Amino acid sequence: MPLPRITSKRRLVQALLIAAALLLPFVTVAGNPFLRVDISKMTFFLAGIPVRIDQFYLVLLATLLAVAVFLLTTVVLGRVWCGWLCPQTVFNDLAELVGARFRRNFPVPVTRLVEHLTALIIAKLIAFNLLCWFMPPGQVMSSLRNFTANPLIFSVFLIMTLFGYLNLILVKRSFCHSYCPYGRIQTALMDEGTLNLAFLDATRERCLKCRACVKVCPMGIDIRNGFQIECIGCGRCIDACRSVMERLPGEVGLIDYRFGERQESRLRVGAKTIALSLLTLLLLTGLVWGVLGRNQTAFYVQRVATAETKMMADGYQVQSWRAVIGNRSQETASYSIRIAPQTVSDISLLGQTHDIQVAPNEHRTCTFFIRRKISAQSSAQIELQLVNSGASVASALLTP
Ligand code: SF4
Ligand code: SF4
Repeated sequence: MPLPRITSKRRLVQALLIAAALLLPFVTVAGNPFLRVDISKMTFFLAGIPVRIDQFYLVLLATLLAVAVFLLTTVVLGRVWCGWLCPQTVFNDLAELVGARFRRNFPVPVTRLVEHLTALIIAKLIAFNLLCWFMPPGQVMSSLRNFTANPLIFSVFLIMTLFGYLNLILVKRSFCHSYCPYGRIQTALMDEGTLNLAFLDATRERCLKCRACVKVCPMGIDIRNGFQIECIGCGRCIDACRSVMERLPGEVGLIDYRFGERQESRLRVGAKTIALSLLTLLLLTGLVWGVLGRNQTAFYVQRVATAETKMMADGYQVQSWRAVIGNRSQETASYSIRIAPQTVSDISLLGQTHDIQVAPNEHRTCTFFIRRKISAQSSAQIELQLVNSGASVASALLTP
């Protein structure tokens, strides 16, 4: 019985990937984007949870986690990332698929025209989708409809579309061959259990030398010569060989995915896999702990550098300060700033210190004044508290 084809599985995975990439920017959780680096809000949304740029350690942890997962995938699955999941491959496969369908039924000029149009449509889609990972899709759409409203976004869209189009028409797979460093990195990361394409040692003498595996290879290599850095693990040669060999009684194909140089059919867990799995787990734990355990309020206070301390005739001094209040909860909150009860007396706050409304995931800056009696204690530190619903939610220690 013929074995299921790799190509249909790869196309299904790629279709799901494209659908996820196109739809995810529109998915929201409790009104927040599911996943976005929102440049205008300087906020990274992770599963709907906003992480402001001032919580840089969380953004750093998320980035390190993504790198660790990527390296772990490479150690276990080798260049399967390149052949199945990399956007360069996915969109080139899509463009080639459309071109191939037309090539069979239409003359060359029509096919060429369709290839150019397909490349242009895919490039526009990629450009639009990329922008949606950095700003709300509605904002991207309205900016593209009205050039004068936001010429920068429109220009970025045009440049990305042009690059995408030229990539699909001129660069194509040569990028994987000649420019992408990932193949070299993957060679350095190879483990005794890394998944590879293999011309099976046990059956290689049955090869019919039909070269079907070579003809379908998008990278132009002959896998019968052994492991080659250019192989992207797409599996086309597996299908080609199976199609030829399955016509013979009892034959199933001479090429297959195998783990490690010993061509084992089961995953062998090597030292690099264990180390990267532990690192991934550690980073994931740190990220979850950091996000769930973080303070719901940010409170930063600093002197207004351009304002001098004023000495009043009644023996008091007045200093100008600025507070930044960040609301990381999902509801609008009302804050007040007060002097901590244990702080020395004869100090009062003037200006904007009560009923400071801050919207969810927003930061608000307010300026206020500290009035204190000039005395031997004038240089003593002052503790300010940020109060929400009668309770102190954050504090800051000031040195006048
Ligand atoms: S050798 Fe096979 S798996 Fe590797 S790139 Fe060529 S067709 Fe794809
Ligand atoms: S397709 Fe199979 S039988 Fe034909 S040359 Fe390649 S490995 Fe040999």
